[in-house]
Amino acid sequence: MITIDREKCIGCGECVDVCVFGSISMKDNHPIISDDCRLCGSCAKVCQYNAIEIKREKKKKVTDWRGILIFGEQRDGVILEVVYELLGKGRKLADSINEPLLCVILGKFVAEINKLALYGADEIHYFEDVKLESFNCEIYSNIISNFIKKIKPSIFLIGATSIGRELGPRVAAKLKTGLTADCTGLEVNKEGLLVQTRPAFGGNIMASIICPNSRPQMATVRPKVMKKLEAKEREGKLFNHVVNSELIDSSIKILGEIKFNGQCDINNAEIIVSGGLGVGKKEGFDLLEKLALELNGVIAASRPAVDAGWADPNIQVGMSGKVVQPHLYVACGISGAVQHRVGMETSDVIVAINKDERAPIFDIADFGIVADLYDFIPKFIQNLKNSKAQI
Ligand SMILES: Cc1cc2nc3c(=O)[nH]c(=O)nc-3n(C[C@H](O)[C@H](O)[C@H](O)COP(=O)(O)OP(=O)(O)OC[C@H]3O[C@@H](n4cnc5c(N)ncnc54)[C@H](O)[C@@H]3O)c2cc1C
Repeated sequence: MITIDREKCIGCGECVDVCVFGSISMKDNHPIISDDCRLCGSCAKVCQYNAIEIKREKKKKVTDWRGILIFGEQRDGVILEVVYELLGKGRKLADSINEPLLCVILGKFVAEINKLALYGADEIHYFEDVKLESFNCEIYSNIISNFIKKIKPSIFLIGATSIGRELGPRVAAKLKTGLTADCTGLEVNKEGLLVQTRPAFGGNIMASIICPNSRPQMATVRPKVMKKLEAKEREGKLFNHVVNSELIDSSIKILGEIKFNGQCDINNAEIIVSGGLGVGKKEGFDLLEKLALELNGVIAASRPAVDAGWADPNIQVGMSGKVVQPHLYVACGISGAVQHRVGMETSDVIVAINKDERAPIFDIADFGIVADLYDFIPKFIQNLKNSKAQI
């Protein structure tokens, strides 16, 4: 909080000149501070008359926050794969700091809740109500932030799905804590702080972010970035929570849901044929479709191919698209820029088709084919057809 003592202030205006945010103006010979003030303190420093005082909130006591909490996102009662992936990472982190791993799940008739224990959860906290069946950001963030205030986990991890991306910032704002989006790495350092790694400045550097003064330390992680553990018998306690009626009121009315038909669900595809700028034209994607069909896979694209209008944004792979981890990723006319690689380099087998033998995609490819894709792919399709015919 910033206050100005009108008796001490002589209206010299020095504070106005020094404010880099332009948040101080003069009215009736006295400074007025606008909402843009960042409490940087330069005005207080420059004031020779000690007329400006800044009171900062005391740092929160963070030591009594313990445990790692995972958001157990479900859709139509089915728990998403990303939850198991976060439990896998969460388990390792929890073991390294000797703290419990918890999962909070909101819904109605959610199936396989007990499976969460098999994948690492020590405690499963289930809020069940018909109003929680579908996601409502207002209600979900009310319940979760209220729950977090009670159980005080030191870390809260959320899948960076469309729901997670909406929920995370609201919960963080309610709890007055930070949030690192789309982390690609999570570790706990010697001081016990969560080191959240994510690409920054267009993917050219990896930033390591910590949140030392607020709790919980919050991060979102995209699907397929973390690996889930093998399921095994583990003790996990289930807590059924009664939903507080005050928290379940919402000004948002959901009129209906339009379901995504899943046709281009590249997140869960086992085989992906992906096209880049080297495809050269929209019709070129028809050829990739034919190859995908032959391989029993789906098509995807690099960002420039999407930007050119040759492919749907839903199937963009990379930093600003989706992270995929199929068994087979066939990159056709894709150079292998870092922003694309972060979305596909954990695929089991990568095949690259590119006419430039120096293309960086070959550095991560298991099989590299230096060829014009329009020469190679039709022959490849024919070969696949021939070999199928022989079986
Ligand atoms: C903030 C930010 C976010 C980004 N996010 C993403 C993202 O999510 N996904 C993404 O993909 N990119 C992203 N990019 C863009 C990225 O930097 C690259 O520009 C992009 O990945 C390059 O796409 P490309 O490989 O299709 O095209 P190019 O780099 O132009 O490569 C085309 C390749 O095709 C080859 N080629 C040409 N013709 C043929 C042919 N007939 N047969 C075979 N090979 C051929 C060429 O040799 C070349 O290697 C992002 C960039 C920024 C700054």
